[in-house]
Amino acid sequence: MNLGRDNHPDLRDAVRALCIQFDSAYWQAIDEKRAYPEAFVEALTKAGWMSALIPEEYGGSGLSLTEATVIMEEVTRSGGNAGCCHGQMYNMNTLLRNGSPEQKRKYLPKIAAGELRLQAMGVTEPTAGTDTTKIKTVAVKKGDRYIVNGQKVWTSRLQHSDLMILLARTTPLDKVAKKSEGLSVFLVDTKSKGIDVKPIRNMVNHETNQVFIDNLEIPAENLIGEEGKGFRYILDGLNAERILIAAECIGDGYWFIERSTKYAGERIVFDRPIGQNQGIQFPIAESYMEIEAANLMRYKAASLYDQKKQCGAEANMAKHLAAKASWEAANVCLQTFGGFGFAAEYDIERKFRETRLYLVAPISTNLILSYLAEHVLGLPRSF
Ligand SMILES: Cc1cc2nc3c(=O)[nH]c(=O)nc-3n(C[C@H](O)[C@H](O)[C@H](O)COP(=O)(O)OP(=O)(O)OC[C@H]3O[C@@H](n4cnc5c(N)ncnc54)[C@H](O)[C@@H]3O)c2cc1C
Repeated sequence: MNLGRDNHPDLRDAVRALCIQFDSAYWQAIDEKRAYPEAFVEALTKAGWMSALIPEEYGGSGLSLTEATVIMEEVTRSGGNAGCCHGQMYNMNTLLRNGSPEQKRKYLPKIAAGELRLQAMGVTEPTAGTDTTKIKTVAVKKGDRYIVNGQKVWTSRLQHSDLMILLARTTPLDKVAKKSEGLSVFLVDTKSKGIDVKPIRNMVNHETNQVFIDNLEIPAENLIGEEGKGFRYILDGLNAERILIAAECIGDGYWFIERSTKYAGERIVFDRPIGQNQGIQFPIAESYMEIEAANLMRYKAASLYDQKKQCGAEANMAKHLAAKASWEAANVCLQTFGGFGFAAEYDIERKFRETRLYLVAPISTNLILSYLAEHVLGLPRSF
């Protein structure tokens, strides 16, 4: 079945050719060991797919966001998990959009060549949660360095990243006119003294961590953009992140639909394929429709982004609709497989866990709804 694959055929074929080398057995073994899929990430990086969004002048492939989403879609669609590497695509964006020419010249070619990985971003903190402006990690300037103290949580891929984008408060909350001011973004060497990493065992095989920061010294030249404007830089990067993750969910969604359909056609119970029963057919058909609809929003958001037009609402809607549709497809698939869906060898229980994450991270459902209610529909601000 080739559902939803009617664009970018060459790109899809090339990414797929790489992904099929990392089969079901590979992902099952990685999942069982709770290991990092190093060989897969390395192959994707070497093939140049991870530097899709880095402009050619810095050694990347200079592809559009739409094309980058196709890469991510093909990864999840092949049965893999893009959570191990998607950060390489969008975290670098903060540097690309807001970094100085020197910073870009210093880091981007090495990132594009796969010599450096920038796939970790430390924003979330245990006490602030989604209320990012309340973060307590502080960076104080002393001469030519910033001294940073604080704590982060859910910092993903940090142990497999050379660099991290770090958000810290540089002006206390009670000294700024607006709470979104006084936050700054730094590029941090993850092996620096003062960073203590404690992995969080979680529902998915996803390398994510608590990070304790104790007198971390960051050279002042590693400040990205202007001091105090970091919150805006982080927000700027979120649209690309949401659209890429929407595409991953779409890939998951088609994977579940294809699996469900094939199994429903083959599994004989009461002397006929279970897919002959409308109780089995209809949920698959409905779920397919939801994925197709979410996919339209994904392409709309990506196209607006590529045209450098406002796309905040569409990026949020794409991520939300795609995450909901893939989760529904996961449920339908599990139900279609019955007991066998729970057996690890079919991959369904693993993909089910993996796709569930996207209703919570990188932004949870309620926050997307409140964004739309306030910024698109003009309803009163609730917090
Ligand atoms: C596996 C994983 C990987 C992650 N990776 C990263 C990473 O690399 N870097 C990083 O910085 N963060 C990362 N995160 C953090 C992620 O972005 C947050 O978990 C997510 O944004 C939700 O924030 P929270 O967990 O603090 O929930 P909270 O803010 O504590 O919210 C809890 C619940 O309450 C709801 N809620 C809160 N306020 C309101 C309100 N006013 N109205 C209605 N509902 C509300 C939320 O929607 C949510 O459902 C990751 C999280 C996970 C689970």
